[in-house]
Amino acid sequence: MSFKVVALAAASAGAGFEAVLIERREPRAHDVVIDIAYTGICHSDIHQAREEWGRAIFPMVPGHEIAGTVSAVGDGVTRFKLGDRVGVGCFVDSCRECASCRAGEEQYCLKGTVWTYNARDYEGSETYGGYSTRIVVDENYVLRIPDNLGFDVAAPLLCAGITLYSPLVHWGAGPGRKVAIVGMGGLGHMGVKIASAMGAEVTVLSHSLAKQDDGLRFGASHYHATSDPSTFSDLAGTLDLIVNTVSANLDIDAYLNLLTRDGSMVVVGLPPEPYEIKVGTLTSRRRSLSGSNIGGIHETQEMLDFCAERAIAPEIEVISGTDVDAAYERVVRSDVRYRFVIDIATLAQANL
Ligand code: NAP
Ligand code: ZN
Ligand code: ZN
Repeated sequence: MSFKVVALAAASAGAGFEAVLIERREPRAHDVVIDIAYTGICHSDIHQAREEWGRAIFPMVPGHEIAGTVSAVGDGVTRFKLGDRVGVGCFVDSCRECASCRAGEEQYCLKGTVWTYNARDYEGSETYGGYSTRIVVDENYVLRIPDNLGFDVAAPLLCAGITLYSPLVHWGAGPGRKVAIVGMGGLGHMGVKIASAMGAEVTVLSHSLAKQDDGLRFGASHYHATSDPSTFSDLAGTLDLIVNTVSANLDIDAYLNLLTRDGSMVVVGLPPEPYEIKVGTLTSRRRSLSGSNIGGIHETQEMLDFCAERAIAPEIEVISGTDVDAAYERVVRSDVRYRFVIDIATLAQANL
C-alpha cells in the first residue's frame, strides 16, 4: 500500500509553495524509507520550479539534497538497516546496464537517469523530491552519511558538494595547479573549500569583493571582482582550470582567455540561455571548454567521506518550510550565505 506524506509543492511554474499530501510508493524489496531531517535548496530547484529549463511536471516537489534516517526497509535490502544515517542526491534510479551505469557514472545513463523530482520513473510515475517528510528510494541510490557530519550540513553535499568534487577530481585539481572558481554561491563556496583541501592554489572570481573575507577563510589564496576589468588583464593566461558555477549568462570568452596553454574551463552552472564563444580563444592556446553533471553514486560516497575526514562542511542558513518562497528570492539576488537548508521538522507541523 502506498502512503501519504507532507510535502511542499508548487502547483504551477513560479507559483508559491504550499504544504500538501503526496503519495509515496509501497516500499519494494530493495527500497528504503527515509525520514527526512533536512533538505538543501539548490538553484536548480528554482530553475525548474520556474520552468526556466523548459517544460516541467507540476505539481512539483523539488529537493535533491536530502539527509535523514532510515525508518523502514524492504525484505531484500542488504546495505542499510533501521536508524542508519543516509542521504539522497539528484537521482533515484538508472538502467544499471549501459556503459555509463557500469562505469559508476549513473548520472550519464544512456537510457535516461531517473531524477529525484520533475521526472518520471521507469514505470511512468512522477518523482517527488526532498521538500517532504519521507521518501522511498532503492538502496542502490542511497548514500551513507558519516557520523561526524550533521544532517543539516550533509544535505548540501549531495548536490553542491559532488557537483564540484567530481570535476575537480576529473580535471586533476591538486598541488601545483591553479584553479579558479567562478561564482561563490552554493556550489562555488563548496568548490573553494574542496579545491583548497585537495591542495590546489584557488582563486575566486566573483561579481564584487563583498564576499572576499569569506572566500579567503574558505581556503582561497586570491579573490578578484569580475566587475573590475583589470581582473581580466591581470590574470590573462594564468589559470590551469576554471570551474564556472554561475547560474546566468557570462562573457565566456573573457574567462577562457584566463586559461594557460592546455587549460580547461568546466561549466557546471546551467543558465537557460546559450553561450557565445569565439573559437579562436580556444585554438590559440589549445584550451578546452567542457561540462560536468553532479557525480555517480560511488564518487558521491567518496566525496562524503572526503568531507567528513577533513571536516569540510557547507555554510548554511536553516529555514522553516514557510520561508522557501522568500529564500528563492534571496538566492536569485545572490543574497545567500551560502546554502539555504529546510528544517523538515517544520513541515511535519503543517496543518493539513
Ligand atoms: P547560487 O547559490 O545562486 O550561486 C550562483 C552564483 O553565481 C552566485 O552566488 C553569484 O556568485 C553568481 N551569479 C549569479 N548571478 C550572476 C550573474 N547574473 N552574473 C554573474 N554571476 C552571477 O546557485 P547554485 O545553487 O550554486 O547553482 C549554480 C548553477 O549551477 C545553477 O545554474 C544550477 O542550476 C547549476 N547546477 C548545476 C549542477 C551540475 O551538476 N552541473 C548541479 C547543481 C546546480 P558571485 O556573487 O560570487 O558572483
Ligand atoms: Zn542541485
Ligand atoms: Zn544506464
